[in-house]
Amino acid sequence: TMNSPIPTGPLARRASRRVLIQNGERKVWVGGDAPVLVQSMTNTDTADVIGTAIQVKELARAGSEVVRITVNTPEAAAAVPAIREQLDRMEVDVPLVGDFHYNGHLLLRDYPECAQALSKYRINPGNVGQGAKRDAQFAQMIEIAVKYDKPVRIGVNWGSLDQSLLARIMDENAGRAQPWSAQAVMYEALITSAIENAVRAEEIGLARDKIILSCKVSGVQDLIAVYRELGKRCDYPLHLGLTEAGMGSKGIVASTAALSVLLQEGIGDTIRISLTPEPGGDRTKEVVVGQEILQTMGLRKFTPMVIACPGCGRTTSTVFQELADNIQTFLREAMPEWKKTHPGVEAMNVAVMGCIVNGPGESKHANIGISLPGTGESPAAPVFVDGQKVATLRGERIVDEFKTIVLDYVQKNYSK
Ligand code: SF4
Repeated sequence: TMNSPIPTGPLARRASRRVLIQNGERKVWVGGDAPVLVQSMTNTDTADVIGTAIQVKELARAGSEVVRITVNTPEAAAAVPAIREQLDRMEVDVPLVGDFHYNGHLLLRDYPECAQALSKYRINPGNVGQGAKRDAQFAQMIEIAVKYDKPVRIGVNWGSLDQSLLARIMDENAGRAQPWSAQAVMYEALITSAIENAVRAEEIGLARDKIILSCKVSGVQDLIAVYRELGKRCDYPLHLGLTEAGMGSKGIVASTAALSVLLQEGIGDTIRISLTPEPGGDRTKEVVVGQEILQTMGLRKFTPMVIACPGCGRTTSTVFQELADNIQTFLREAMPEWKKTHPGVEAMNVAVMGCIVNGPGESKHANIGISLPGTGESPAAPVFVDGQKVATLRGERIVDEFKTIVLDYVQKNYSK
């Protein structure tokens, strides 16, 4: 039956409060109806001011809208204001988040300029201290956040879960007529840790719209289950990420699998993709993957996308792969500049196809498309612009000529 149209798009976004993360004039919002934010984390020694500032700049240039740095030692805390200054000098205004474990209460107290220079603090409630000291140390950090008017992410991680809280949840479970599975107990402990600490932070005086929560785990099904429930129990914005996702394609696939299910359900207000870089690999990969998840799902637009066929036995030359790769790289690299000069260009689609089987059809759906000659075809590459055939390219210079057509299109259609 065809009584109603097939539904399109993701489910409605989960309702959450909007949290402001600010560095001077630069404001970014997490939650509410703000677009899902892409963030990342450096892996430099924070005490290395120049090295850290350079990596933050690279991550910001790749599109990271917030960058987190670890603040783990007095030297790191002392370096934070200098990193901020260095970034300001390079005109990089991305907000910095400080990641604190174990000694955050001391570092934030002893280095007020660090506390001030950061735009947000990440506090892991499992790594705040043990026993009686725990509450006091947590309160100390929250009071500093209140004093400097900074938002806080209460970031629970199952690798560092508050052990006394876990023991309490296990005791509760032992008292149940039908005890829950160990997995369900773990989920409950993660969620309880996040929410109880958020409530505690509010009691200490942190405003409700200064709190973001996360509960990171490393299993795809675990992450989905935990965030579905966490999302139901509160209206704080949620930071999504699969922790320790891993290396190479496995890390990318696991992150994408977990995050896309949640995002499709309207859950998640900021994402971070935790990839282990390949030796010598580029840290900015995690930003690109985060953007690609959001853009391919249709949730945001960051950079013009190349639609390419996989190629098959009909593909005749390596020009095809070269062209697809070349154009995507070219578009991505142009984007930081185009953001200022060519607004809207991030919505452009370019199709690069290996032959005429699907080439012209796909080309007509894109803003610009090219079909390279396949086996048995004439050695010509038809080019479509806005659905109309505008040129037929041949020979050695196909790549350059096609690039020129793309550039002309960008100038004509997206110049300010
Ligand atoms: Fe093969 Fe042509 Fe399809 Fe590309 S468009 S996968 S070359 S048949």
